Amino acid sequence: MDIPRIFNITESAHRIHNPFTPEKLATLGAALRLERGTRVLDLGSGSGEMLCTWARDHGVIGTGIDMSRLFTEKAKRRAEELGVADQVMFIHGDAAGYVSDEKFDVAACVGATWIAGGVAGTIELLARSLRTRGIILIGEPYWRQLPPTEDVAKGCLAGSISDFLMLPELLASFGHLNYDVVEMVLADQDSWDRYEATKWLTMRRWLEANPDDELAKEVRAKLTSEPERYATYTREYLGWGVFALMPR
Ligand code: SAH
Repeated sequence: MDIPRIFNITESAHRIHNPFTPEKLATLGAALRLERGTRVLDLGSGSGEMLCTWARDHGVIGTGIDMSRLFTEKAKRRAEELGVADQVMFIHGDAAGYVSDEKFDVAACVGATWIAGGVAGTIELLARSLRTRGIILIGEPYWRQLPPTEDVAKGCLAGSISDFLMLPELLASFGHLNYDVVEMVLADQDSWDRYEATKWLTMRRWLEANPDDELAKEVRAKLTSEPERYATYTREYLGWGVFALMPR
């Protein structure tokens, strides 16, 4: 079981697999007023940077589940490196349908809401592992500007304009699901650059080391087209944020 190999190549050097910088991740941790011993569940935990740094900085206890074998290994190494291996556990597996027996204080899905068919389904899934008055974290894109055409949405690698909402609508949608939005931290264009541009040097180095790999052609094509595509579309049109929710 693993995610498509192309992501394990293009994001092999990322610690954070979303448009947040380490500073924004730290801002979120501080905003949530995490207390020592807070139990955090993270579905689609990637390379574990959120759980590991919050364990170091706030003393949280965490469980992360991710389908990438590589990212899960990186998460375990990061926990060792930061001296928090006794506080965080990383499981390689499918987070779709994952419900824990133990209830968590914080249940998160940061940039992987497809695991339960979208935002509403993911909130419902996380709620099943959440204690009363716990906090749900959802990391999700929204439109900074509404794409004028479906082609522009596709340029952002969205399936269609209707895949995402504008920020006010996204915030309202949480209310319609009967949740209060109690905090949020948003990406900006510079933090988006860290997520996207980091892939370019990674691809270039990978191509030099793996010229005969079966994915070399695809990676070469991506490296050639991605900077311009990103600057034309994603950087202009797509926002991203993490939203903290509490059931009303
Ligand atoms: N939350 C992390 C990773 C976000 S990227 C971070 O912010 O850094 C999306 C992650 O979802 C990737 O790590 C990918 O491996 C993982 N993923 C994709 N499908 C999954 C599934 N069905 N179950 C668990 N993880 C999944």
